[in-house]
Amino acid sequence: MDTKYIFVTGGVVSSLGKGIISASIGKLLQARGYKVTIQKFDPYINIDPGTLNPYEHGECYVTEDGMETDLDLGHYERFTGIHTTRHNSITTGRIYKTVIDRERRGDYLGKTIQVVPHITDEIKRRMLRAPLNPSEGRNGFDSPLHLEGSGEAFDFVITEVGGTIGDIESAPFMEAIRQLRWQLGRNAVCVHLTYVPYLKAADELKTKPTQHSVKELQGMGIQPDILVLRTERHLDDSMRLKVASFCNVDLECVVQSEDMPSIYEVPVSMQRQGLDAAILRKIGIPVGETPAMVPWHTFLEKQRNASKEVHIGLVGKYNLQDAYKSIRESLNLAGIYNDVKAKIHFINSEGITPENVAEQLSGMAGIIVCPGFGQRGIEGKIIAAEYTRTHDIPTFGICLGMQMMVIEFARNVLGYKDANSTEMNPDTPHNVIDIMEEQKNITQMGGTMRLGAYDCQLVEGSRAAEAYRPTPSRNGGEKKALPIKGERGEGLLISERHRHRYEFNNKYKAEYEANGMKCVGINPAADLVEIVEIPEKKWYIGAQFHPEYSSTVLHPHPLFMSFVKACLES
Ligand code: GLN
Repeated sequence: MDTKYIFVTGGVVSSLGKGIISASIGKLLQARGYKVTIQKFDPYINIDPGTLNPYEHGECYVTEDGMETDLDLGHYERFTGIHTTRHNSITTGRIYKTVIDRERRGDYLGKTIQVVPHITDEIKRRMLRAPLNPSEGRNGFDSPLHLEGSGEAFDFVITEVGGTIGDIESAPFMEAIRQLRWQLGRNAVCVHLTYVPYLKAADELKTKPTQHSVKELQGMGIQPDILVLRTERHLDDSMRLKVASFCNVDLECVVQSEDMPSIYEVPVSMQRQGLDAAILRKIGIPVGETPAMVPWHTFLEKQRNASKEVHIGLVGKYNLQDAYKSIRESLNLAGIYNDVKAKIHFINSEGITPENVAEQLSGMAGIIVCPGFGQRGIEGKIIAAEYTRTHDIPTFGICLGMQMMVIEFARNVLGYKDANSTEMNPDTPHNVIDIMEEQKNITQMGGTMRLGAYDCQLVEGSRAAEAYRPTPSRNGGEKKALPIKGERGEGLLISERHRHRYEFNNKYKAEYEANGMKCVGINPAADLVEIVEIPEKKWYIGAQFHPEYSSTVLHPHPLFMSFVKACLES
């Protein structure tokens, strides 16, 4: 089968949930047995979101191959379980960088380099996932030739374009879609997501913004095949018919995306309205039977039944839902598979003092000490880690959170009052967290951390190893953990994603272990400490990696599973 391309755009306002709709389409096509990938094109000029403050753009998600990406890739992976790569997250900055680098190399043979066709061609090439192959003809990316061999081995490539129709910066992306639509014919489908507001005073739902948004799209030469209407109230058939007839779209291709109690209900709602079937019909593929999606429904059933609450504190510095998106979702999922609802409370670490910590953490069954960068809010994290350690409250430190647990232990157990990370104090005499050797000479900020998946060997008998150990009875699937016999003896080998420059300083390892904090996960190649735990506590574990990036709906992460379980038992 030729690769088919689905383009997802959005209109009227941002934050409509294009990422969720793209992920849902991916899920539904995957359930039909197709090989799918989902990619995100963001019209900003940063090369990647790695350098963006989370207040600007929410969490930075990291792929296995070490790309810092948009958080929508987290939705794609959680919904489908398909691993994304650096090819799945593209920005205007990357597009321009490729074109400018080629221009400097002389690839364009004296041509004037312009948005059309050079930028749009590079966008098209990436949308098609075609190789950058100079032998194809030096400036021949707008020739039909480059379509050959595109799309790798996928049946469907879903491309979500960030931003809203009408934005100046998204215009080249729209032009690329227009051209591709023409070149690909029936092998391309355009899905447009818009908003139908409810006006309280008039007690009416309004379709005009949708009509305008579609007109804008048509003005760019793109006729949407499918409209997904975001709405807070149910739209009756007459509304849908009105939209269909004003926008030149078939009635069966107008679906609505009502507010749902959970984003994970969205694929099922889309399937019920025949969104995937409409896509297949547009392309000309026999629709066939509707997949039952049994594991997904089993999960939803569990979600609906999980009513008992467990309160978990997120000790961090970004008071924004999206800043710790993957951690929140990982907790939600682990809660559901433990038959409870994880009630997450953001606790601003900047406001935590020794005097108020008891009050700030009161009622929490456990806390997560969040990842992060820089000085702001770290002392509060350290105070929280001390409180939960001394009060034996389950605690899960992630990346910077783990580092803060290590510093706290040095200060209050090992007696090094001035212990710190060299990130916070380069001159600290007790640098229990120190810059990694290979990071020392790096001056560029973007994409230069220790990024992506690395192996970690777990120490036999540790709580971390127990969490990962595959058992047939464990709820909700497994993460790969291979029993190995290496230089460090027997243990489980796992692989987890990273994003950091600093590490546990091995100089102090023996002292930590002698005093009760064990290094129970080690990267075998570099001898880096990846997990620490205090076995005598109920659950006190810090991970240098980010388990939250690999927790999915059908396979919740074992560390989150084990943490939530401990919260319930304590
Ligand atoms: N700032 C720390 C480091 O670079 C932790 C990073 C993080 O939490 N992702 O090592």
